[in-house]
Amino acid sequence: MAYIEPAPIKDKENPFESMMSRFQIASQALGLDNEVYNVLKTPVKQVLVSLPITMDDGSIQVFEGYRVIHSNILGPSKGGVRYDMGVNLDEVKALAAWMTWKCAVVDIPYGGAKGGIRCNPRQMSAGEMERLTRAYTIAMLEIFGPDRDIPAPDMGTGPREMAWMMDEFSRTQGMTVNSVVTGKPLVLGGSLGRTEATGRGVMVSALAAMEKLKINPYQSTCAIQGFGNVGSFAALLLEERGVKVVCISDISGAYFNENGIDIKAAIEYRNENKGTLEGFEGAENIDPDELFHLEVDVLVPAAKEDVITVKNVDKIKAKLIVEGANGPTSAKADAIINEKGILVAPDILANAGGVTVSYFEWVQNRLGYKWTGERVNRRSDRIMKSAFERVYNASIEYKVPMRIAAYIVAIDKVAKTYKYRGGF
Ligand code: NAD
Repeated sequence: MAYIEPAPIKDKENPFESMMSRFQIASQALGLDNEVYNVLKTPVKQVLVSLPITMDDGSIQVFEGYRVIHSNILGPSKGGVRYDMGVNLDEVKALAAWMTWKCAVVDIPYGGAKGGIRCNPRQMSAGEMERLTRAYTIAMLEIFGPDRDIPAPDMGTGPREMAWMMDEFSRTQGMTVNSVVTGKPLVLGGSLGRTEATGRGVMVSALAAMEKLKINPYQSTCAIQGFGNVGSFAALLLEERGVKVVCISDISGAYFNENGIDIKAAIEYRNENKGTLEGFEGAENIDPDELFHLEVDVLVPAAKEDVITVKNVDKIKAKLIVEGANGPTSAKADAIINEKGILVAPDILANAGGVTVSYFEWVQNRLGYKWTGERVNRRSDRIMKSAFERVYNASIEYKVPMRIAAYIVAIDKVAKTYKYRGGF
């Protein structure tokens, strides 16, 4: 097998470089040949569009829209659309590749894609957002499609934008095509269980890992960074299964209670307090950095990327890290985590519950049928649990950490499928 030079790890890491360096390590461990490596390294399609939009004051502003399809080897590509001022082609390319590995690791029949528009959604009116979203959909008409490429929400977009995309696409087809996007409002064909799906997958991964480490959930403690969609549902569901959640945090600070935080009360408080935990009295305020140094069994980063780095990794005392967020651990910190013998349920595995239920949404739309929440949960738990087992077994077989094992499982699946399908 040809040697593939690993990417140099720079002083300043970014999550996407970290992802690519892991892709290279896993490719080497798998003995992937250079041809397939090169196929998987580069996206199949990169689309850049210009979107002139009439603003509310009558002026015309031109926005840049992107869609990158990294791979459609396993099936139609899947990935969110991000509205943010920081959107750029390199970022979208990396996020698209990330989606390929995530879908492959949980074994759903999708390739990976990502899209975005460089804009500031907080400074735009609903009307401006609607015109921009509809213009983007029209510009991507030849890209999107239930059997081609299926967008979903990401930073700055949600069910409202998905409804506009679905409606605009449907108009051009002369019929309702709700399977063209996922993350839609329930009444438009959204799936029950989607809102809590990522947090739920984090819980399933955490319990599966605890079983391997012989940690009894009823005698375990946990700290969770981030109390948004992923963090709060992970906290609630872990608490329901006996885990004592002693620390939670959000942008307002970190909250610690050694007797366990009442998560339902914290969620109610947040919901009535403009979405933040500021002033929450069910726990004492601690330095947010301390969350990573607590004497807990499980640590769940569920806020943002690059929060476990060489700066704080030495002080981590948890036995298990379950990555709710995308890219919370830098590649350099990984090496130290492995030396310390901490088990990691990596992002592309642990937070794949969301894309799994998005897949169920698409399946239900195509069936013209609605599953009960109970059926959605049962099936997604099964997918998450067996993905965990596959990755765990690969980590033993290849003698690599769980993160590299997850990439091995994913890359192996895509590479094998590519070999069967073939190219020119
Ligand atoms: P969200 O916006 O609902 O919540 C983010 C939370 O993190 C908020 O509570 C916010 O206050 C907190 N936060 C932000 N910066 C922080 C900081 N510096 N310290 C502590 N807390 C901070 O977002 P989300 O949907 O829960 O996503 C969280 C992470 O999970 C992101 O990395 C996202 O990419 C990833 N993810 C989300 C999904 C999903 O289905 N929502 C799926 C896969 C991955």
